[in-house]
Amino acid sequence: MQDVTHTRSNLRHIPSVDKVLNTPEVKNLSEHLPRWLVLMVIREILDEFRKELQRSKDPLSLDEALERIVGNVLKKSTDLQKNSLRRVINGTGIIIHTNIGRAPLPDEALQLIHDIAKGYSNLEYDLSEGRRGKRITHVEALICRLTGAREAYVVNNNAAAVLLTLNSLAEGKEVIVSRGELVEIGGSFRIPDVMRKSGALMREVGTTNRTHIADYEKAVSDRTALLLKVHTSNYRIMGFSAEVPLQELAALGRKYQIPVMMDLGSGNLTDLSSFGLKGEPTIQQILSTDVDVITFSGDKLLGGPQSGIILTQGAVSMNPIRKNPLARALRIDKLTLAGLEAILLLYQKKNHWDSIPVLRMMNLGLEKIKERAADCLSALDKVNQGMMKMGIQEDVSSVGGGALPGESLPTFVIGFERGDISKDSDCLQLAKMGLFFYAFAILAISAKWLLGTG
Ligand SMILES: *Cc1c(COP(=O)(O)O)cnc(C)c1O
Repeated sequence: MQDVTHTRSNLRHIPSVDKVLNTPEVKNLSEHLPRWLVLMVIREILDEFRKELQRSKDPLSLDEALERIVGNVLKKSTDLQKNSLRRVINGTGIIIHTNIGRAPLPDEALQLIHDIAKGYSNLEYDLSEGRRGKRITHVEALICRLTGAREAYVVNNNAAAVLLTLNSLAEGKEVIVSRGELVEIGGSFRIPDVMRKSGALMREVGTTNRTHIADYEKAVSDRTALLLKVHTSNYRIMGFSAEVPLQELAALGRKYQIPVMMDLGSGNLTDLSSFGLKGEPTIQQILSTDVDVITFSGDKLLGGPQSGIILTQGAVSMNPIRKNPLARALRIDKLTLAGLEAILLLYQKKNHWDSIPVLRMMNLGLEKIKERAADCLSALDKVNQGMMKMGIQEDVSSVGGGALPGESLPTFVIGFERGDISKDSDCLQLAKMGLFFYAFAILAISAKWLLGTG
């Protein structure tokens, strides 16, 4: 009975929107924030408060209620001004990690993105001819020069590149693909689903673990528009398995005059075997098999911004891809284009791997990594104060981005072991650890460990 009375009187003590709005603190807030936002926050906080009071048993005076509400309004308003996207430290041991933003960009790319974003540009204007131009021209010749492809086109990401290519070349017709390559890439990119959405009819051949050239050949008919090969990315079939090399598939395509496409996934312009990584041929090597179309990402091994690159040669022309109405829906935006052009220009430099962060990290070398681990450890020691045991250990990292599954790069890591916690409650310990990592984050970012420039 008493509880109910308290609740009723508490509810009577909820101030009006106007009352909150007219407190000096909220008035001050209204100087910086638009009225609609302040009102929205006040209403939300009052709603929350009302619900809370219905559950609460403690009596509350009008002044106390007002004070708490104003405090919450101020806090919420501050929170709303904070950006949600922020930097993190990559402690995963995976260089190209999809969940934390894939490829970090070099300064050259940031500079061009900044310049182009800040003002007007010749995005779709041909300055030498003095007439309308096409955005793709800024990278087209550059990509062809670097890869040896006859034609190049760029869209929003590789998923878009695959969708657009399948739709342009095989809508309403059959695409022959091995059952061993009907893969799902992280983030819900599934070959059968993309195929369906493209309007192409998937003609599966072979089995999960073994597909032979005869399987493809038996499936060829006058309905066939394309032979497709897919990089299985972060998954590998081991043991009793067989796949048809791209070269053989390309030869089969020539025999029947059917174009051959490869979804390369990552796609690298750099010979990674010099970094000790084998099994990921370069785009130039892929094109030398006489495959007609390939697609790959801009933000995996290439080390650029999110984008999807389509290359054609041989029997396939880029025209149906360029002219497809979907191309407009999937087009690359000017910021990405600026970042991509800057990255590609770096590839024309000698020792380009030193200026492209993902390649630089892959090529860092054990001595350098150990040095950095030691620097990192001594910085950590300053904030640790004996709370945790720490030390440098050997370990391995991986490239990520669906490239080189099963391959690893030797590295050094800093191992933590929680020290004696008997004196502290778990809660206090957790709070201390939180502070510890926070301090570490600030140190790490100021030392630029994240980009491997430390
Ligand atoms: C990563 C990947 C994709 C998707 O590329 P996004 O650039 O992430 O859209 C498609 N196919 C393969 C084989 C991949 O590895």
